Amino acid sequence: MKLILLGAPGAGKGTQAEILSKKLSIPTISTGNILRAAMKNGTPVGLKAKEYVEKGALVPDEVIIGIIKERLAEPDCAGGFILDGVPRTIPQAEALESGGIGIDWALSIEVSDQVIIDRMSGRRTCPDCGASFHVVSNPPKAEGVCDACGAALTIRKDDAPETVKARLETYHAETEPLKAFYGARGKLKTVDNQPTIEATTAEIEKALGL
Ligand code: AMP
Repeated sequence: MKLILLGAPGAGKGTQAEILSKKLSIPTISTGNILRAAMKNGTPVGLKAKEYVEKGALVPDEVIIGIIKERLAEPDCAGGFILDGVPRTIPQAEALESGGIGIDWALSIEVSDQVIIDRMSGRRTCPDCGASFHVVSNPPKAEGVCDACGAALTIRKDDAPETVKARLETYHAETEPLKAFYGARGKLKTVDNQPTIEATTAEIEKALGL
């Protein structure tokens, strides 16, 4: 399965990617997680990305295309992959296509902006492994501690309310057109966000015939 997850920031792409990844035994590639790790480690890519990420803007396409092509060339992607948060612009999608990286489906998780704004205020993220939690809908077993690796959870700087608004505007302007892009290729599936993580997973599995 070669799958792209589309949807606004906070739609639950990362959470659903993690679940599907385990179920299908294929890696999830999250450019957001790759960029956050690069920023934490102060690499040249991280230093370049920081100014964009922190204000809720998109990192330039050429940086992202370089990261994703390199990652998809690794052997663990040979049997399939889930792309979480990439492509996010038409040029990124075109670069995948022209690079011969075919996909089975682009699946869009549909959520209203208001639900996103409410949801992002409760998000907690692991700075070490990238796992994502929510104080109400998906709390970690021990408060403030990552279930997966035990690190202290943090609030992403770009989850601040004004940055979330900027990210939603960017989503509608730059990323939402990808639905038409993949729709025109007969590759688009959409599911509506459900009240629980499990119910959304069930919708996704139904849409993908899993
Ligand atoms: P995410 O964790 O997917 O919400 O990504 C966090 C931030 O990283 C975004 O707001 C962007 O600044 C940047 N980013 C992640 N993926 C991409 C991408 N495919 N294209 C451009 N910027 C990205």
